[in-house]
Amino acid sequence: MAIHHLNCGSMREIDPGNGLVPARVLNHVLLVETADALVMVDSGFGTIDVERGDESLGRTFLERTEPLLEPGETALQQVKKLGYQPEDVRHIVLTHLDLDHTGGISDFPHAVIHVHKQELNAALSPGTHPEHSIRYRPMHWAHRPQWSTYTSQKGNSWFGFDALQLDGVSEDVLMIPLAGHTPGHSAVAVRGGEKWLLHVGDAIYHHGQVEPGNRWTMPLWEAFEELTEMDRPLRMANQSRLRELLLDHGDRVEVIAAHDPWAFQRYTEMAPAL
Ligand SMILES: [Zn+2]
Repeated sequence: MAIHHLNCGSMREIDPGNGLVPARVLNHVLLVETADALVMVDSGFGTIDVERGDESLGRTFLERTEPLLEPGETALQQVKKLGYQPEDVRHIVLTHLDLDHTGGISDFPHAVIHVHKQELNAALSPGTHPEHSIRYRPMHWAHRPQWSTYTSQKGNSWFGFDALQLDGVSEDVLMIPLAGHTPGHSAVAVRGGEKWLLHVGDAIYHHGQVEPGNRWTMPLWEAFEELTEMDRPLRMANQSRLRELLLDHGDRVEVIAAHDPWAFQRYTEMAPAL
């Protein structure tokens, strides 16, 4: 099962100050070739953002993140470049509904959008959190996608985490509830041969937060995580679980954070545009 790693949205360049080269923050999207369909994990920025970013993303987000918004970075263009039709993407699994993860879904109007029920409820309800209208952008789902929603439940265990099977999707792609950043935030586990990739969305911002034996911090970025978090104790508890997961099963599981350019570089020859 081939897994393509796409950068669907370069943003401002940051210098981690720890010897790694400065790089642009990005939206790490997975395109998974399962036996019967293409399954995408997250969707980054889409055509709507390239063409109408002021409206679809809003000024506050644009000022904070300085996205490049280049057509060639949309999932749509990259799917075509790989030789597929947009209709081949039948499922999109979203880690959460923040604007930098949902911009691409309207480019695939026939795809079923899989998301945690609590996340959809949070995005569609009037919010009390000060970040609510900055992060959840109704323009991204104004095309009325077909949602498929899931509720956390005990049952199937994936390395000790609860795993939710997705309707109509290969068992090699699982939703793993991992809330804190947002109410229904979830990771997505993808089996690639003997190993699993765990796309953890924004549960962490960079791999240094959970890497055993090689932990490093980025104070500015971590302040931003605190600004956008919706449940701090849950977010911190889930980070600890990810750390334990890598300590115990690092030989079988790799963790990918959605915006980490250094982790992205591990999976592709192509460095993010500078
Ligand atoms: Zn994000």
